[in-house]
Amino acid sequence: MSEKEILSRIETLKKYISESADSDPRDAYEIRHWKMEIADLENALSTIRDKKNSPEPWLRASIKITKPIVLIDMDGVICDFDKRAKELEAKGVKGHSLFRHPEAYKDLEPIEGAIDAWIALQEKYETYILSTPPWSNPDAWAEKRSWVQRYLGDTAKKKLILCHNKGLVKGNFLIDDRIANGVADFEGEHIHFGQNQFQGWKEVLTYLGVK
Ligand SMILES: [Mg+2]
Repeated sequence: MSEKEILSRIETLKKYISESADSDPRDAYEIRHWKMEIADLENALSTIRDKKNSPEPWLRASIKITKPIVLIDMDGVICDFDKRAKELEAKGVKGHSLFRHPEAYKDLEPIEGAIDAWIALQEKYETYILSTPPWSNPDAWAEKRSWVQRYLGDTAKKKLILCHNKGLVKGNFLIDDRIANGVADFEGEHIHFGQNQFQGWKEVLTYLGVK
């Protein structure tokens, strides 16, 4: 698509959204997909514009970020790993072998409200996924990469950070259900998902000033 076609499509999608009713569940479903398409189109647009400035955008030395950065953990925050763990335990998979099981990370169910939250956060924040994968199961890395693209859209696949020391990663907020793997050393603010005032995504979005 050309820059002009992308801009026109974005305008059309924004018109659809403004003419739809949030309260109608069918419209809400469509709105979610339109918003994801807009995010992908805006990403394509910035790639086209970057190309004009630099013939080889993959060699860019600087990727400017102007919005505050929100880092989001996966298991227990956007993916329901606990549910899968219980299912596997019921089948007799126990202890550490659970993390190496081929089904452990395969197509996990999203946590309630997580996908809508990811979309809603886009306007005000630069969002990244920050997850510590099981190091003994490299297939889980691929499952995480596939999950992000499937549930959060094509653009999100380049927003996945896999890291053992979360304290090394720069950001304004880190939404995580645990303090393990360097969360306590994070220099921004840790939003402890599932604890105290942050019981779910609704409370987190309110705290971050997002509807
Ligand atoms: Mg977690």
